[in-house]
Amino acid sequence: MTGPIPSWSYLAEYEELREQVLAACDRVFRSGRLILGEEGKAFEAELAASAGARGGVGVNSGTDAIVIALGALGVGAGDEVITVPNTAVPSVAAIVTAGGTPVFVDVGEDCLIDVGKVEAAITPRTRAIMPVHLYGQMADMDPLLEIGQRHGIPVLEDAAQAQGATYKGRTAGALGAAATFSFYPTKILGGYGDGGAILSDDETLLAAARSLRFYGMETVYYAERHGYNSRLDELQAAILRLKLPLVEGWIARRRAIAARYDAALAGLNSLRPVGENDYGRHVYHLYVIEADDRERLMAKLGEAGIGTGISYKWPIHTMRGYAHLGYGAGAFPVAERKAERIMNLPIFPQLADEQVERVIEVVRANV
Ligand SMILES: *Cc1c(COP(=O)(O)O)cnc(C)c1O
Repeated sequence: MTGPIPSWSYLAEYEELREQVLAACDRVFRSGRLILGEEGKAFEAELAASAGARGGVGVNSGTDAIVIALGALGVGAGDEVITVPNTAVPSVAAIVTAGGTPVFVDVGEDCLIDVGKVEAAITPRTRAIMPVHLYGQMADMDPLLEIGQRHGIPVLEDAAQAQGATYKGRTAGALGAAATFSFYPTKILGGYGDGGAILSDDETLLAAARSLRFYGMETVYYAERHGYNSRLDELQAAILRLKLPLVEGWIARRRAIAARYDAALAGLNSLRPVGENDYGRHVYHLYVIEADDRERLMAKLGEAGIGTGISYKWPIHTMRGYAHLGYGAGAFPVAERKAERIMNLPIFPQLADEQVERVIEVVRANV
C-alpha cells in the first residue's frame, strides 16, 4: 500500500531543490533590484533560446501573456480571435480583456483545434487565430500557419501547457507570430507563484509587449501607448532560471509515466487514453483519459486516496460568464462530448513508480 497520491504536488520537488531555491531568493534580495532587473532579462533570453525563438518578455501570468500578445498584435475592440471552447477559462478571458471577441471552432478526437473547421470561421474582422496546445500536445500547426498566411492573419500559440513540446521537430513558441506561456506552479515549468511569458521572432512585437507590460512606456515616465502593469518579478525569474535546465529531464519522466499508463490501460474497452499525435512530442502537462463511467471511476479513485481532475468539465461557450457570446449547447458537439468523458490521472515528475502502479491497479479494478 502507498499513502494518498495527489494529482499534483510540488513538495517533493522543493525538497530536491530547496538549497538552490533559497540561494536564488537570497541572491535576489541582496541584489538591490526586485523588479525588471538582471534575473528577468537573463531568464527571458534563456527561455527564448530553449524554444528557438528570437526573444521573450516576462509577465505576471499566462493570462496576461495572452492579453499583452494580442495587444501587441493590434487586436482591439470588435476584432475576432478564433480559438477553441475546450480550454482553460483564461484563454478566452484574455481575448475579452484585450477587447476582442472569441470565435470558437470545434476540436477533433485529439481534443485539439479541428483545423478543417478554421477557415469557415474567418470573417473580415478576424485578427488572430489562437490554437491551444492542450494537455501538452501541440495543435496541427502547418495547416494553421498556411491558413493564417493565406488570409494575412497571425497565429498566436497558447502554449501555457506545452513548454518543450515539439511539432515536426520545432519547439512550441517558435512557430506562430508569438506564443504565450504560463509559469503557474502546476505547469511544465512552474514558478513558486504566478508568472508568464511571450516568445516571438518579431522584434517589433516584442518591443510592443515590453511596453504594454510597463504602463505603455518605452522611456521612463512617458507613455507611448495605453499600457498596463504586468511584470515577472526578479524572485520568480531567479527560481525559473534554476528550473529551466531541469525541464528536459522532467519531460522525459512525464513521458515515461504516460507510456506506462498507456501500456497498462490499452485494451480496456470502457476507457481510452487521449494519446499522442505522430507529428510531435507530447509533454504530458496532464495525462487525460476518456472513460464511459467517469463519475464512478473518479469516485473509486478518490476512495483509494488517488487525486484526479477534469480539464475541463464545462466547455467555455456553455458557461454563464460567456453566454453573451451567443452560442448554445450543441454548438460544438465534439468538445461537448469530450467534456462529459474526460478525466486526468496523477502525473508529475516526482510521482514514484509504485504510485503509478497503484493508480493503474485501482483503475483496472474499476473499469
Ligand atoms: C494555465 C493556462 C493559462 C493561464 O495561465 P495563468 O498563468 O494561470 O494565468 C492560459 N491558457 C491555458 C491553456 C492554461 O492552461
